[in-house]
Amino acid sequence: MDSILEQKKEKTSSLTSQQTRELVCELCRNFYNLGWASGTGGGISIKEGGKIYMAPSGVQKERLKPEDIFVLDAQGQVQEEPGNGLKLSQCSPLFMHAYKIRNAGAVLHSHSLNAMMVTTQYGSHFKIRNMEMQKGVEGFGAFDTLEVPIIENTAYECDLTDSLEEAIHKNPKAHAVLVRRHGVYVWGKDWKQAKTHAECYDYLFEAAVKMKQMGIDPTV
Ligand code: ZN
Repeated sequence: MDSILEQKKEKTSSLTSQQTRELVCELCRNFYNLGWASGTGGGISIKEGGKIYMAPSGVQKERLKPEDIFVLDAQGQVQEEPGNGLKLSQCSPLFMHAYKIRNAGAVLHSHSLNAMMVTTQYGSHFKIRNMEMQKGVEGFGAFDTLEVPIIENTAYECDLTDSLEEAIHKNPKAHAVLVRRHGVYVWGKDWKQAKTHAECYDYLFEAAVKMKQMGIDPTV
């Protein structure tokens, strides 16, 4: 049987609850294979039919099953929980900011090494320009300067909530917020755009780290 990703490639109709649960699991496996969700880190949530489907906290993201997914209402209140000791993601209040402030359709959190490394190379904002892959980020062309705000890490993920909210408000063109020596939060109008944004941003982060290693200024 085709994967949910394959099934949905050509369709525009909305997903059923079960399909959305399966899609969250499938994307978690993809992100694990990219190194974005190793060591139980990272996660994804998708808004579908007015509900938000969210992977649980502190579990092996590549082994998630559809019945492990939390379902929240549009305000972030838990409607369905999986039980069996699973906890709601610590990212939940952070994801909710992207849903509420940016009207996102999906939000993901990545512990990608590229995202982490790039925060050691910049101050308050990641900056790059003249990159073809910028075109994959809504609102940017190949010759623009693309910026992503960087917030400082905290001991507990939930304590990032206020600074992430502030960064979203102050950077209306960005579809992501980097967290110093930690990772990145990325969103899009739907899961496909969030995935595309995350892939393009990750490519740009990796490119910038490598360019700097070679003495090339990524903003020139
Ligand atoms: Zn994290």
